Amino acid sequence: MEINCPDVLLDSLENGHMVVDENFIVSYWNRWLSINTQIHKDEIIGKSLEEFYPEINYRVLQRKIKTALSIGTPTFYDANSSKKFIPINRNKVTTSSLKLMQQQVTISPYIVSQNRVMVSIYDISELFEAKLLIKKEMRTINKLNEKLEADREIIDKNIMVIKTSSTGIIKDVSTFFCDYFEMEKEHLVGENISIFKVADISNIIYRELVQTVQNKKSWNGELKYKTLSGQEKWFQTRVLPIFNAHGELHEFSAVCHDITNEKLLAQLYITDSLTKLYNRAHFDETINLLVKHKRKTDIDFVLAIVDIDHFKSINDTYGHQVGDEALIAIAKTLKNSIREDDLLARWGGEEFVIMLKNVTLEEAKNIIEKVRVNIEQSVINNNIKVTASFGLTRYIFGEDAKEIFKRVDDALYKAKNSGRNRVVVK
Ligand code: GH3
Ligand code: MG
Ligand code: MG
Repeated sequence: MEINCPDVLLDSLENGHMVVDENFIVSYWNRWLSINTQIHKDEIIGKSLEEFYPEINYRVLQRKIKTALSIGTPTFYDANSSKKFIPINRNKVTTSSLKLMQQQVTISPYIVSQNRVMVSIYDISELFEAKLLIKKEMRTINKLNEKLEADREIIDKNIMVIKTSSTGIIKDVSTFFCDYFEMEKEHLVGENISIFKVADISNIIYRELVQTVQNKKSWNGELKYKTLSGQEKWFQTRVLPIFNAHGELHEFSAVCHDITNEKLLAQLYITDSLTKLYNRAHFDETINLLVKHKRKTDIDFVLAIVDIDHFKSINDTYGHQVGDEALIAIAKTLKNSIREDDLLARWGGEEFVIMLKNVTLEEAKNIIEKVRVNIEQSVINNNIKVTASFGLTRYIFGEDAKEIFKRVDDALYKAKNSGRNRVVVK
């Protein structure tokens, strides 16, 4: 039968086109098919497709052909990755796993002849490969999400994390945080973070924290919080500012861990066990650090040494226990007589040292004179009176700790030798 078809046109297309009837007899086979199947049109035209491609599901194909013919619109034949319509080797093999061409097959009514359809085969290998790649990437993303979820759970159960709004309202807390503070999450969310604030932490620290995060930096430091039962705990805390899409401070995320024991140990290390003042080791360390400064303006202090007069006689008269109590009382008087910024330590036995920062020698002398009077006027254990002698000297830029101690000791020696209960400046 003569087919009235623009052969030349179909032959020039970069897709496969064939015309078959309901019994799969081929009446047209374009050039693309000849090239790609290695079956020339003269070999196949007039024959059934079944002879060449027995693997096609002809039951389905017949149904598709009938549908296309009866409703007059194209239908698709499902030729997915495993069920190729006709196996065609790919010329452009891009991956070793993909040797056969992935095909999309449409079956359209062939307008020239009522009982025939045009079967068109399109190469969708590249689309298929892209889909495979997306599938693979989705699997990787899903795996990462699962891992992230697992990590999140580990964090939630083992790390103290708290999220607040930019104004400090608690938005979220980790399970570990709730467990630690023995509080329910629903009771915490909506509260202000200040419920954990401890009064004796200086506001300077909080101000520094807020300033740092507002400068878009994370803040790392030690904060003291109190639990609901009133226990005070120290936490190493890292606060991270989180910004919204407009770059505005949106919320804070804080990660903290309990360092209470470390803090207690560190405190113990620098504290004199009897008087609870700083001990000699801490004073030594502080002064040695200070004298290492290279700039004169960074080192400005006056050193005072205090030695209780005739302390031995207190022990001899009232016993060592009362002597201890007297030392505690004297330590308290000393502490109450100096300024917050001055550093006071027990130097050993019944001797104390005071570092007065940023004062003239005259001012220091007045302060220490007041200390002397306060000791003289205090009454220990209702009836014990003590006095103390003082050596005082100003740090000279460039000297080391030994030199200033030598000078202050000389001053004390003079105070002792010139009648005690006095302040001698050298
Ligand atoms: P002065 O300094 O005026 O010359 O007389 P002093 O009696 O204070 O002199 P000294 O330095 O010889 O004696 C210090 C005494 O302090 C001797 C020691 O028994 C007593 N002492 C030192 N440490 C302690 C302590 O921790 N507890 C008690 N109870 N006594 C202490
Ligand atoms: Mg002494
Ligand atoms: Mg003494």
